[in-house]
Amino acid sequence: MNNSLKLFNSLGKKKESFITNEKGKVSMYVCGPTVYDLLHIGNFRGPIFFNFLRNWLEHLGDEVNYIYNYTDIDDKIINKSKQEKKTTKEISEKYIKEFERDYKSLKIKNPSFSPRCTDHIEDIVSFITDLIDKGFAYPSKGSVFFSIDKFKGYGKLSGKNTTDLLAGHRVKVNDDKNNPLDFVLWKPSFDDDPGWDSPWGFGRPGWHIECSAMSKKILGSKIDIHGGGVDLLFPHHENEIAQSECCSSTTFANFWVHNNLINFDNQKMSKSIGNIIKGRDFINEYNPEIFKFLILSVHYRSILNFNKKLINQTIVNLIKIYSALSLAERISNSKVEIIKSKEYKNDFDVYSKKVSDFINNDFNTPGFFSIIFEIIRKFNLVGVNKKVTGELKYFSISILDFFKKYGGLLGLFQEPKSSFLEDLNLLILNSRKINLEDIEKAIIKRDKARKEKDYNLSDEIRDSLANEGIDLNDNPDGSTGWSVQV
Ligand SMILES: [Zn+2]
Repeated sequence: MNNSLKLFNSLGKKKESFITNEKGKVSMYVCGPTVYDLLHIGNFRGPIFFNFLRNWLEHLGDEVNYIYNYTDIDDKIINKSKQEKKTTKEISEKYIKEFERDYKSLKIKNPSFSPRCTDHIEDIVSFITDLIDKGFAYPSKGSVFFSIDKFKGYGKLSGKNTTDLLAGHRVKVNDDKNNPLDFVLWKPSFDDDPGWDSPWGFGRPGWHIECSAMSKKILGSKIDIHGGGVDLLFPHHENEIAQSECCSSTTFANFWVHNNLINFDNQKMSKSIGNIIKGRDFINEYNPEIFKFLILSVHYRSILNFNKKLINQTIVNLIKIYSALSLAERISNSKVEIIKSKEYKNDFDVYSKKVSDFINNDFNTPGFFSIIFEIIRKFNLVGVNKKVTGELKYFSISILDFFKKYGGLLGLFQEPKSSFLEDLNLLILNSRKINLEDIEKAIIKRDKARKEKDYNLSDEIRDSLANEGIDLNDNPDGSTGWSVQV
């Protein structure tokens, strides 16, 4: 393993050299969604970021086993199944399908495996049995609780201590528990609620235990990375550590990696404020590429403040990039003989090195993006409206290779260049409230004026469109194209 990678570990709260348990192999478990509805945009930040993290580790030469689970039994799913008069299985399978549809449209790699909680009830029951046998958990009136007093390391991830938690927490008095902070591993199911037979009666698992049990079953007792949204750090991940480390007597995960959340206009997204945006709606209205770019342009540990301005800025940035790539593609297809340029070769060696340095420093994607724009600026300087030379062709091919390789790791820049650029231009027209038909009419009028050698009118039309933010491009084949000013 190339241990030049430094990764921020939430456990200990500092960047550490990334060293794996087994050389060349990475085991990674990321907490996935509870499937009872379409997911909001914040739920996709994890899949997009961890896809990149996984791709980067593979790029460094590691084999990555990436597990991303579905919580398919939970009170919210049960409530929804009652509302819709369906089984919990029908609800969860429906929303897993919907999620996978969104995931597919993001065009990022599938996780190695996505286990469902309900397929692992036996593993969960045997995990809990083990904890009871070892004295870390106790059954009580059909439930089983984890006894947090038995785990001295409780709070090591979140920095919370049990005395403060007890004092500051409005913990409901529950006679079933030895300590009010004990958390549930198994709970009874009443009436028609779904459940499974167990040594403690008919019931179902608590939420925290599923990840510990599935991670152990699939990846073993000790894993390299456990990830998820920062909102899961406490209590979910704290409780996972307690269960797993008591069960296996070993460190559960060497690295705890948490992506931050998405706010909307500086406010937390919440049902009560009514500012939740579903991933599906965003993808349909804009484009998955815009979504991915927007998410990765902000460092994964920073809050991403989602708003209209950021969306428009993202579209403009993508137009700049795809315009350059589209030009590079045209130049690379020209008949001019390629001439290898030492200067450009050296430039791209430096760009690659800088990208590696940024990413190996705790996945600094904004730094990575700054290199992308440095390349685009240089290319525009030497390539726009210039005669195609062998060296320029070399630069163009190098830029296409660079974006294919590094963009591919991000899950970006692989769209068909000119048609995607058209889509982006239309989105900007919409946001600026400019009508496409008006542009097309103006172009026809101008073509006619040019044919009639009425250059005053032709210039007037061009200038008035330019004032609206539209540039006309007269192509060598006689046609007139347009682009938005960015
Ligand atoms: Zn989990």
